[in-house]
Amino acid sequence: MFDWLIVGAGFAGSVLAERLATQRGDKVLVIDKRNHIAGNAYDRHDAAGVLMHQYGPHIFHTNSEAVFEYLSTFTEWRPYEHRVLAQVDGQLLPVPINRTTINKLYGLHLSSDEQVEAFLATQAEPVQEIRTSEDVVVSRVGRELYEKFFRGYTRKQWGVDPSELDKSVTARVPTRTSEDDRYFTDRFQYMPAQGYTRMFERMLNHANIKIMLNTRFEEVRNFIPFRRLIFTGPVDEFFGFRHGHLPYRSLRFKHVTLDKPWHQPVGVVNYPQTEDYTRVTEYKHLTGQEHQKTTLTYEYSASDGEPYYPVPRPENAILYQKYEALADAEENVWFVGRLATYRYYNMDQVVGQALATFRRIEAAFPAKGGT
Ligand code: FAD
Ligand code: UDP
Repeated sequence: MFDWLIVGAGFAGSVLAERLATQRGDKVLVIDKRNHIAGNAYDRHDAAGVLMHQYGPHIFHTNSEAVFEYLSTFTEWRPYEHRVLAQVDGQLLPVPINRTTINKLYGLHLSSDEQVEAFLATQAEPVQEIRTSEDVVVSRVGRELYEKFFRGYTRKQWGVDPSELDKSVTARVPTRTSEDDRYFTDRFQYMPAQGYTRMFERMLNHANIKIMLNTRFEEVRNFIPFRRLIFTGPVDEFFGFRHGHLPYRSLRFKHVTLDKPWHQPVGVVNYPQTEDYTRVTEYKHLTGQEHQKTTLTYEYSASDGEPYYPVPRPENAILYQKYEALADAEENVWFVGRLATYRYYNMDQVVGQALATFRRIEAAFPAKGGT
């Protein structure tokens, strides 16, 4: 009899497995339908020997010291500050939009935050109530920059116009008046030195943790004896889609290895105006690996397929609330992670959510004793 069956070996499932096994001495079985651990953060060396991310670029960044300290138990880190360029009007320009972006695009020589702020003020369109992903951008940088940098990219990525998406989506990307061209400004910005998969291996390496890969929950739910369940897959799937399907956005990844050391100047180049793909990632920028070849991933967005992104729209939030009510009513099941709580969470937020769930479990059930 397992104390816990954990469905999903991504951040949500693996953090909880580690906590339950090491802090409580609980016996845990982790299953995953895929043939590997680490969920969407899975990385591997490809046929050429280049370390790459199977499910697109994963860059770790957080402001949470607790999350950073926790993960530091399982990995050493490589400092990495992510930079992104967008191909706009035939030029490669910094994203988030910053002073350099505006100077290069318009042939200007703005030299202070105040000058950029004044320029943006001439562009910005007043919006009464900021509700949508269009409102956020148009109210800050105006329609022209919105069209060039956000509208096409967002339509490609989400299959709908930014005016139909919650403001939280494009609000992920700020606008800067400085020359700071980092994608993130978090306190902690690092990549796991030996990769994510190695970090997960260390997290799950415990006598009380068993792992079964290539195993879907539905295949084993009636055969495996367990006391309690942690589910990190799609919440609508768990309940047999009884209120209908929650929309998730999917992706197709095209991985390409080139017989030359470098392809592009930064880790990610976005294509808001041209191409069928949204962005191209070159992993060696992220990992620091030295290799005479280089591996890239082209990302194509899709409405069908493996669920990757919850789609933040008001009607989806309402549908999710129905599933959340069902989830809350389940006595011995915990729903954790991006798919199970239908939240557009980054890795650090999922780790934080899993650690908070562990604290709730601790409060609800006294431990047998740590190992
Ligand atoms: P997942 O990693 O999806 O793990 C869930 C696991 O459950 C999967 O392995 C799945 O196979 C398994 N599963 C589901 N259903 C079943 C079932 N029925 N039976 C058995 N197993 C099942 N975050 C960042 O912080 N930085 C980034 O740069 C970043 N880039 C991203 C890029 C892309 C393209 C995507 C899609 C996400 C990115 N993220 C990034 C977000 C990050 O991937 C997630 O926050 C994190 O992986 C979520 O972990 P999780 O455990 O909730 O889900
Ligand atoms: N976005 C955009 N143009 C860009 C970068 C981002 O329109 O050059 C929008 C797009 O809607 C995207 C969202 O901002 O989905 C969030 O971007 P982020 O880079 O955080 O997306 P993720 O890495 O999660 O796919």
